[in-house]
Amino acid sequence: MSGKADPRPAGEGTTSRTRLDRGRGALGPALELVHTGRAPTRAVLTAELGVTRATAGAVAAELEALGLIRVDARPGAAAGSQGRPSHRLSVAEDGPVTLAAQVHADGFRAALVGLGGRIVATAPGCEVIDADPAKVLGSVVAAGAGLLRETGRRCVGAGLAVPSAMAEPEGLALNPMHLAWPEGAPVREIFAEQVRAAGLDGPAFAGNDVNLAALAEHRHGAGRGARDLLCVATGHRGVGGALVLDGRLHTGSSGLALEVGHVAVNPGGRPCHCGSRGCLDVEADPLAFLTAAGREPGPEMSLLKQAGTLIREHDDDPAVRSAVATLVDRLGLGLAGLVNILNPDRIILGGLHGTLLDAAPDRLRAVVADRSLWGRSGGVPILACALDHNSLVGAAELAWQPVLDDPLVILA
Ligand SMILES: [Zn+2]
Repeated sequence: MSGKADPRPAGEGTTSRTRLDRGRGALGPALELVHTGRAPTRAVLTAELGVTRATAGAVAAELEALGLIRVDARPGAAAGSQGRPSHRLSVAEDGPVTLAAQVHADGFRAALVGLGGRIVATAPGCEVIDADPAKVLGSVVAAGAGLLRETGRRCVGAGLAVPSAMAEPEGLALNPMHLAWPEGAPVREIFAEQVRAAGLDGPAFAGNDVNLAALAEHRHGAGRGARDLLCVATGHRGVGGALVLDGRLHTGSSGLALEVGHVAVNPGGRPCHCGSRGCLDVEADPLAFLTAAGREPGPEMSLLKQAGTLIREHDDDPAVRSAVATLVDRLGLGLAGLVNILNPDRIILGGLHGTLLDAAPDRLRAVVADRSLWGRSGGVPILACALDHNSLVGAAELAWQPVLDDPLVILA
């Protein structure tokens, strides 16, 4: 940033326009700081950006003029970096939104998500997921377009979360095992077509649901501040993983990194659709839990809900307690292997894995510590994911990224 090197005192011999010209490169970083809650005041923003107070003021004013953030005109009592009262910054409550969509084994959900990861409106849809991705994505985009009409909000882009590895750069759903979609379906392109057909503005993106959950948790939830964040989660079916390094998703050379569901944790275990046996995917997901507890899965609610309800409401049942122990041991074994390879500074667990952690935190931490080099002495904090609908919020993050990179794109 040039602001810090400016030899002139702030406000002397400059107009707000030239200050802003110098601060233009700071617009994106400034928006990201407010978006992720790391700059609650203008004083913190100034310090975080390493610019003069005048430049930070001009940058904040420009972001406010773009309708993206709000600058509280009255300096708050909350102290700034030097204990001085400072203007409070927040994302604009009534600003633009992104359309976020998620498809899973039991249905779909559309939502409008503002800056700050705030879900403004949401519409769940439950249906048998059609074997034609265009039909499902057409339904979820139509639900999102309905929310936009109802709320009258401006849409700056769209993001989609799917329960499949996504091959990049083409955006192909490589193994939508728990959906009836054809392998290698060009999901991102189909989603983009549906978004255009609905007359919505902005670019369209798609990603793996656990990757997006990890991104959302890193920016707004249980992963905030972690440098090497490992996320392992089971949603409706199967197990996924993600790694966020220095704030960016690590997706590998072609988008397929962190397929942790196929780490073997029970060599003599049940066959997995990948061709191996005893993978986390089939040994530590909601169906595996229900089976271990001797329960027949019912059709009335999702497997995730059935398993979660059993753990929370029937912990006095010996069969449930034993199933919790079995799944915690399998999950811990898988996590220990990942800790040895990846050396994360934090692990977050989503879906049923978060519920298992809540049910038996000491047992899970002990298994990981006993079986991993870097996890020994309880070195790696293990937390449950904190956000509702984190895959949706992560899908929204994809759609927000161009605005975070250059807030002026919203003028286009
Ligand atoms: Zn497998």
